[in-house]
Amino acid sequence: MVNVTRDFFIGLSNNKFLNEYAKKWGFRLGAEKFVAGTTVDSVAKVVKELNSIGISCTLDNLGEFVSDKAESTKAKEEILRLLDRIHTDKLDCHLSVKLTQLGLDIDREFCVENMKEILTIAGSYGIFVNIDMEDYSHYQQTIDVLLELRKDFDNVGTVMQAYLYRTEDDLEDLKDVRLRLVKGAYKESSDVAYQSKEDIDRAFIKIAKKRLEEAEFTSIATHDHRIINEMKAFVKKKNISNDKFEFQMLYGFRTEMHSNLAEEGYNFCTYIPFGSDWFGYFMRRLAERPQNVNLVVKDVFCKSENQLKKEPIITGAIAASILLLWRKQRRSKRDKAS
Ligand SMILES: Cc1cc2nc3c(=O)[nH]c(=O)nc-3n(C[C@H](O)[C@H](O)[C@H](O)COP(=O)(O)OP(=O)(O)OC[C@H]3O[C@@H](n4cnc5c(N)ncnc54)[C@H](O)[C@@H]3O)c2cc1C
Repeated sequence: MVNVTRDFFIGLSNNKFLNEYAKKWGFRLGAEKFVAGTTVDSVAKVVKELNSIGISCTLDNLGEFVSDKAESTKAKEEILRLLDRIHTDKLDCHLSVKLTQLGLDIDREFCVENMKEILTIAGSYGIFVNIDMEDYSHYQQTIDVLLELRKDFDNVGTVMQAYLYRTEDDLEDLKDVRLRLVKGAYKESSDVAYQSKEDIDRAFIKIAKKRLEEAEFTSIATHDHRIINEMKAFVKKKNISNDKFEFQMLYGFRTEMHSNLAEEGYNFCTYIPFGSDWFGYFMRRLAERPQNVNLVVKDVFCKSENQLKKEPIITGAIAASILLLWRKQRRSKRDKAS
C-alpha cells in the first residue's frame, strides 16, 4: 500500500498539466503547511522568525518543468532579487536552486551562464548556493555542471542521494565540496538505486560517517530521529567539531526537532520552499509521508467548497483520487489491526 501511494503521488508530482494548473489555482490542499507563502516578503518573515531562535535557512524559489528560456531567465531574476533581499535584511540564509529551473533541459551553456551570474552576486554577498539533486536522468549533468562551476566559484555545492549505488564512490572526488546528504526523493529503478528503507538507511549512515570524518562540511538532511541520534553519538565518540556539519530538515516537518537541535547547540538549517510553483514539491512530500494525506483530505473537504464550484472537474478529480487513497489507507490499517 505504501508503495502504491508513493508511486501515485510521484506520478502527480510529474504531471505537467497539474503543475501548470496549480500555479493558477493558488495555494490549496494544505500546501501552506510545507510551503512558506508565494512571495519574497512572506518567506523573509519566516526566515527572520527562525533566525531569531538560532536556526539558519536555505531558500528554494520553487520551479519545475521549465521549458523555455524566458521562463528560466525570469526564475534567475527572481533568484537575484532574493539574493539582494537576503543581503539587505542580513538574513542568516543561503540558497537552494534546481538546474532544470535555470534551463538545463533547454540549453546546458545557457544554464551554466545563469548559474555563473547567480554565483557572482551570491559570492559578492558571501552567500552559499546549493544545487538540489533531481532525478537520476539529471544526475551526471548536475555533477558535471558543479565541477565546471567549482573552477571559478567556491560558494557552490550540491546534494548527494544515499539511495544511489554510485554515491559512495562519487563522493571520493567531492571531499572538498560542501554537500547536503539526503536519502533521495525520486522513484528510481533497481538498476541504479537501493529500493528498501533498510538498505537506504544503511547507505546513508555509512556515507554520513565517512563525510563527517573526511570531508569539508556536510549537511545531514533527514527527519529520521534514529539517524540523527546515531550521528550525534558518532560525532561525540569521534570528537568531531560541530563546525563540520549541520542538520537540515524541511519546513513544516517535525518542527519541534528543529528548535530542539538548535537549542542543544547543533547547527541547524531549515529548507524553506516558497513560490507559486508548489504542486510538484508538495506531491513529493505526500509521497514520502502518506500520513500527510489526512491534512489534504481535511483541506479539500473542509475549505474548498468555493474552489469546487469554480473548477469542478479538476478539483473533483484530485479530491476523488486523494479520498480514494485515504480510504484505502484506513482500510489497510483496520485490516492490520484486526
Ligand atoms: C533539507 C532537505 C533537503 C532535501 N533535498 C533533496 C534533494 O535535493 N534531492 C532529493 O532527491 N531529495 C531531497 N530531500 C528529500 C530526501 O531525499 C527524502 O526524500 C526525505 O527527506 C525523506 O527522507 P527522511 O530522511 O526524512 O526519512 P524517512 O525515511 O522519510 O523517515 C524516516 C523516519 O523518520 C520519522 N519521520 C519522518 N518524517 C516524520 C514526520 N514528519 N513526523 C514524524 N516522524 C517522521 C518516521 O519514523 C520515519 O519512519 C531533501 C530532504 C531534506 C530534509
